[in-house]
Amino acid sequence: MTPAEFRRVGHELIDFIADYRARASRGEFPVMAQITPGALRAKLPAVPPLQPESGDQLLRDLSAVILPACSHWQDPRFFGYFPSNSLLSAVLGDLASTGLAQLGLNWQASPALTELEELTTDWLRQMLGLSERWRGVIQDTASTATFVALVCARERATDYGATRAGLQGAPAPLIVYVSSQSHSSVGKAALLAGFGSEHLRIVPTDERFAMRADVLETMLIDDRAAGHVPCAIVATCGTTATTALDPIDSLAELASRHRCWLHVDAALAGSAMIVPECRQHWVGVEAADSLVVNPHKWLGVAFDCSTYFVRDPEHLVRVMSSNPSYLQTAADGAAPNYRDWGVPLGRRMRSLKLWFVIREQGVAALQARIRRDLGYAQWFAAKVDAADHWRRLAPVPLQTVCVRHEPEGLRGEALDAHTLAWVGRINRSGEAYLTPAQIDGRWMVRVSFGTHTTTQKHVEDLWALMRREALAGP
Ligand code: PLP
Repeated sequence: MTPAEFRRVGHELIDFIADYRARASRGEFPVMAQITPGALRAKLPAVPPLQPESGDQLLRDLSAVILPACSHWQDPRFFGYFPSNSLLSAVLGDLASTGLAQLGLNWQASPALTELEELTTDWLRQMLGLSERWRGVIQDTASTATFVALVCARERATDYGATRAGLQGAPAPLIVYVSSQSHSSVGKAALLAGFGSEHLRIVPTDERFAMRADVLETMLIDDRAAGHVPCAIVATCGTTATTALDPIDSLAELASRHRCWLHVDAALAGSAMIVPECRQHWVGVEAADSLVVNPHKWLGVAFDCSTYFVRDPEHLVRVMSSNPSYLQTAADGAAPNYRDWGVPLGRRMRSLKLWFVIREQGVAALQARIRRDLGYAQWFAAKVDAADHWRRLAPVPLQTVCVRHEPEGLRGEALDAHTLAWVGRINRSGEAYLTPAQIDGRWMVRVSFGTHTTTQKHVEDLWALMRREALAGP
């Protein structure tokens, strides 16, 4: 493709995206893709083309084949999982990143990439109200950031044991503490970091689904008495199922007393901290060792953009660095080499989309949107609380409301079947998208607000739809 062809097809692609977003915001598509597994592949050739195809053919298939197989996360009636906003300024930032085709192997390979990442993560630090003791880096996902955190915890506890015999040479098992509500990526990170499932302690939660610090303390004491080494505590600020808030200040105190690494997973809720009144939810965060916040969730930066903040970058670099001769430059030491701040060597210029979003929106508009979503959740929770046969199953500190319709006499598996039936009908109708999840072993429905195009009317329509479908029967 020549630059001239790129210009022509590219303009058409921008038109396509702009039209798509306009149509999605008007709710013109079924929110959940209405296709069966394998249907997309059946429409496409199983073997690659031998001869070149035109950009026009590509765009045609994008519209005719790919689009109908998409679920629409930017549709205002998307209330599933968590918000994964992709503001159009982020789309442009991502396009600019790919267009400039920078690869940040070190500062010299792309000074712009390195310095913009330093700048934007520091902007975000300020927006979140974090002190200057934190330094940030952009990772692909929170899963990766938590993995990096646990490797750093392991290396601190073993005095850089990986440079010797690694965990296999450790004199006593190292223990990681998570809660029963931690995201699945946390347990996965602990296993990948080599701790072993036998050394993963699942701390129970209280009636608000927050980690119980008192039980954690007992576990820490018992583990030490058994000759184990408490190594890391992972606190969640905004759990996936219910947005519960672990008591970070109490956990930080325990971490300090037991010489544990404290990692805070604020993948979803971190974005809310740009609003000062939300910061009460992570009191104590300054005492953590590491923190992950996903601007690619609620803030509006297109996936993937996960920010990982640490208080001791030197330790991170010592654990993660590799320094082959072909990557050494005269600038080493004068600027960060972000390859030493995480797992991958190659690095995209993700900072561009963060930069575009912060500049195009301005902090005040981003704050206003977060406050809007907090308001939607409160409005919805009040409706659920006031309605007969509806139950709210968890506090609503943020933008998610966990609900169940409980008709008279329905319990246990029959109630589960009822819940899955009405939410399934809604998702299949394409009129809204909701995610069921289990809590205390029973199904409920999470209503997650935060899609940037959602208005109060969409929220009201959703409540009407849920009541209608819950009463409709099979
Ligand atoms: N942590 C929490 C609390 C989450 O809600 C999620 C995603 O739902 C994750 C981690 C994983 O995020 P990522 O997809 O960025 O790895």
